This record gives sequence, structure tokens and C-alpha cells, in this order.
Amino acid sequence: MDIIEKISSEKSLNFLEEIIENGIKSGETSVHTRFPPEPNGYLHIGHAKSICLNFGLAKKYNGKCNLRFDDTNPVKEDVEYVDSIMNDVQWLGFNWDSMHYASDYFDQLYNWAVDLIKQGKAYIDDQNHEEIRKSRGTVTQAGTNSPYRDRSVEENVDLFARMKAGEFADGAKVLRAKIDMAHPNMLMRDPIMYRILHTHHHRTGDKWCIYPMYDYAHGQSDSIEGITHSICTLEFDVHRPLYDWFINSLEISECHQYEFARLNITNTVMSKRKLLQLVKEGFVQGWDDPRMPTICGLRRRGYTATSIRNFAEKVGVAKRDNIIDLGLLEFCVREDLNKISERRMAVLNPIKVVITSYEEGKTEYISCINNPENESAGRREVPFSRDIYIDRDDFMEEPAKKYFRLSPGKEVRLRYSYLIKCEEVIKDEAGEIIEIRCSHDPLSMGGNSSDGRKVKGVIHWVDATKAVEAEVRLFDRLFLQENPNDVPEGVEFTEMINSESLQVTKGYVEPSIKGAKEGCSFQFERVGYFCVDKDSSSEKLVLNKTIGLKDTWAKIVK
Ligand code: ATP
Ligand code: MG
Repeated sequence: MDIIEKISSEKSLNFLEEIIENGIKSGETSVHTRFPPEPNGYLHIGHAKSICLNFGLAKKYNGKCNLRFDDTNPVKEDVEYVDSIMNDVQWLGFNWDSMHYASDYFDQLYNWAVDLIKQGKAYIDDQNHEEIRKSRGTVTQAGTNSPYRDRSVEENVDLFARMKAGEFADGAKVLRAKIDMAHPNMLMRDPIMYRILHTHHHRTGDKWCIYPMYDYAHGQSDSIEGITHSICTLEFDVHRPLYDWFINSLEISECHQYEFARLNITNTVMSKRKLLQLVKEGFVQGWDDPRMPTICGLRRRGYTATSIRNFAEKVGVAKRDNIIDLGLLEFCVREDLNKISERRMAVLNPIKVVITSYEEGKTEYISCINNPENESAGRREVPFSRDIYIDRDDFMEEPAKKYFRLSPGKEVRLRYSYLIKCEEVIKDEAGEIIEIRCSHDPLSMGGNSSDGRKVKGVIHWVDATKAVEAEVRLFDRLFLQENPNDVPEGVEFTEMINSESLQVTKGYVEPSIKGAKEGCSFQFERVGYFCVDKDSSSEKLVLNKTIGLKDTWAKIVK
């Protein structure tokens, strides 16, 4: 846990907080951030980091945070994504001060583009995509001016209006900013501001057939909303001069972009493109597959919003790219679930035990504490009878050294219940153990024994006559490789998928779980944390394993 302790002990200001506090000292009065997702996929844990950061800073400094859909690319966007994003942000525990769409600003952005044309700072280029790319030059070589660069303002105004009116085909023309084709920053070499796309937009319908590029739309949207700190990920630092160029050229209200390192996590992929591929090609069962790093996937897996917020906090805000061990996220959910989830007993790999000395047909109800971490969670009654299930792993016919669980002639404590002793092992014709017969010490209920003898092993169990059968889904990491993005040339990242990342088994759980709602989490004693899956119905209980009690992974890899 070295790294975790180290991270959590660093309570000093992060660099963004420093910037904000310096600003406050020099007289700035407000903090206004925004979270600007493109509605082209479901949010993932990386976005959660950005959400916690943007909303968190606004909260800390008594400011505001907007939710803005960066919907400038109609080809890949969808209302389904908009709805899921709103839901995920709220589920994480945040509320936006106001919600906007970049498409709300299309008219304003268009008018500003006309302004730039009139200032001689933008022109219509008839070159195609390939020609534009070629004439851009390289990092070491200046680009060349487009033959259309010196069109008159009148001609540009006219052509731009006709572009908007739908006179030209996709790709026939673009509007470019007129900056400098020899600029050392390639992005400043007459970047494209508008392209023609005769495509239906999920909000503006068919009103537009020209759409602004990210770089042209983003800063201006920030300016319109009065964003003071436009926080984005590191790869946008080269875009900052352009961000500033548009704002300065248009002489509109100032805002500033700041970059932090995007969150990367081991054993998973995080780009929406790759996640979409996993969904489309059927490697997972949907965006909310519990193995996905999406917020909806994590939620379905049993992650709590608190655990994700804590994770974002522990990761901190870095200025340089790094990769965080998935173990830290797992640590966070385990820590939270330990506090809040009720304890239950469940047997996932059952073997029948018959306590022959116990009265047949009798049921005792044992009062058990629901959560030792939280007294107000109360108690429940757990039925006990002659026939129970225990886990196969808790019995060994020929016990290894230091094996303190059940074995022939040996005694073990049933959690909260009696001491039992294995008297006989029943096998089928194939030699498979099908039943274990035991006797019990009737005076040993709940911790004592009749003569004060000590028994080391304690195992969990469920009443076989009253237990509820459940489908249990066990998950492993989707990728065994630490960085599945790092594949040899010619190899698809999907080839690295852990084919055993999902296992489905049948188990038995305490009857008190019956009727638990979707998402409800439990700690199965000695087993791990589980939650009720949305596939559950009144006939069938389906459980997802969120995480084990301890980090078994770290032990295996060592
Ligand atoms: P991806 O590359 O995964 O498709 P994106 O950056 O294209 O993500 P957007 O919808 O544009 O996704 O992102 C919305 C906001 O979330 C942006 O401000 C972006 O910088 C931030 N963000 C996206 N991925 C991460 C990440 N891994 N870590 C931190 N912030 C992220
Ligand atoms: Mg993006």
C-alpha cells in the first residue's frame, strides 16, 4: 500500500488549485469550469476523473460548473449518449449549474467566422483534404500557401454563405483561419474552422450542412459561458495558441485553457473508439458490461460513486502522463464497500453437509449483525437446519498441513452457529464427494463449546432447505497485459482480451437476499463483495462479483 499511503498523504494543493488561489489573491473573483464531453460514447473512468476535477474545483472555490455537450461532429453523435452522460454525472454526485450544447452556439459561431473573414483572418479553400494535408509541411519544413489563400474578402463572404446554404458537396470547400503556413506549431498553419457535412444533427436537424471544428468551437463556447478555467487533457497543450488566437482575434471575453495528464489505468483500454469496438464486435455484452471501465459498467459491477470519487482524489492531478494501477481503484471500492455493505453468507461452490445429530425438520433462527462497521444496519435472522451447504474448498479429505477447515474426524466452527465434526464422507460411483455427514456439539452455538476446547477453523454456510439459488458472475481483468494498447504491429488490441474474464457459476445465498434491488451490494463473508445485477427477476437472482476481500492478484503476479 506504499503508493496509496503516499498519494493520500499528499494533501498540498494541486497545480490547478494553485493557479486558482493565485488568481484569487490577485483579485479574480470567480471560478467557472465546465465538463465538455462529446456525446459519441459512454463515459469512462477517465471522464470520471475530469468530472471530479471540474465539479470539484467549482465546489471547493464556491464557483460554478457547466455540463456542455461538445456536439460539433454529427456523424458520430447520438441522443442515447447524451442521456447516459447526464445520468452518469449525476450518479457520480454532481449537479451542473447549467447545461449547454456547442450546437446552441452554431449561429453565433457562424457570425464570428464571418467577422474573421471580414478582418481578412479567414478564407475559403477549395483544396481537398489530401491537398491540404500535403501542403501543411512537416515539423521541420514550412507548409505552402493555398492557391486560394488570397481570395478577396467579398468572395470569401459570398462563398461562405453559399457553403452554409448547401450549394457545395461534402469536402468541396473548407473555411480556414489565415494564420501562418510556416508557423512552428503545425496546428497554427491555417487550421480548418468549418467543413461541409450534409449530415443530420441530433439537435439541429438539417439546419446546418457546415459544422465547426473542435478548435474553432471550444474556446468560443467557453467564452460565451464565461468559463474561467477551461481544463483539458495534456494532448491539447499544442492547441492552446490556437485557442487563444481565436479569442484574441474575435476580441471576445477572455478565458484560459489549462492542461492536466489524462488518467490511464492498467489492464484496460479507455479510448471511446476502442470501447465502442469491444461493444460492436461482441467482446463484451454492452457498454455497461461489468468488465468495462465505463462508469455504467463500474456501477453495474457494484462500484459506488464514493469509491470512484475517492479514487479520483487519490490519483491527484498530474502534469505528466502516467499509468495508474487498477489495484488502486479496486482498493477504493473495497474500502467503501467494507463500510457500507451488509454481511451475508453465500456458498458459491457448494457441497452438501448433513448434520445427522441435529433434529430433522427443525429450523433455528440465528440473529446476526448485518454490518460490524455500522451498528445502525441492525440484525437479521439466519435460518439453520440439519442440511446445509458449505464451500467445497472448506473441506479436504486429506488435509494439507495447517488446514484448519473441515476434514474427516476434524471439527470446525460454523460461523455464528455450532461446532461440527466430520464423521463420514459419501461419494458417488465416480468417487466424487457428494455429501459430508457430521455430528454437532449442541452446546456450542455462537462461540462456546461444551468443554472449553478450542477449534481454529471457522467456515461459512447456508441452510440448504431455505437458501436461494443464484447465478453468480465472476469477473477477471479484461486484459491480463498491463498495457493492452501496447501491442506489436499488425496485432489488434482485441487479441489481448482475457478469454476467461467472465465465469458464470451457480451458488446459494441466504434467503434474506431475496427481493434485494438491482445494485444492492453485500459482503459475502470470507468470499468478497457482490451486487444484484439488472438481469435479476423475481424468479432468478443474478449476482455480480464486484471484488474479492483481498487483493489476490498482487499475490499471483509476484
Ligand atoms: P476518448 O479519447 O476516451 O475518446 P475524449 O477525450 O475524446 O475521450 P471527450 O468526450 O472529448 O472524450 O472528453 C470530455 C472531457 O473528458 C474532456 O475534457 C477530456 O479531456 C476529458 N477526458 C477524456 N478522457 C480522459 C482521461 N482518460 N482522463 C482525464 N480526462 C479525460
Ligand atoms: Mg474527444
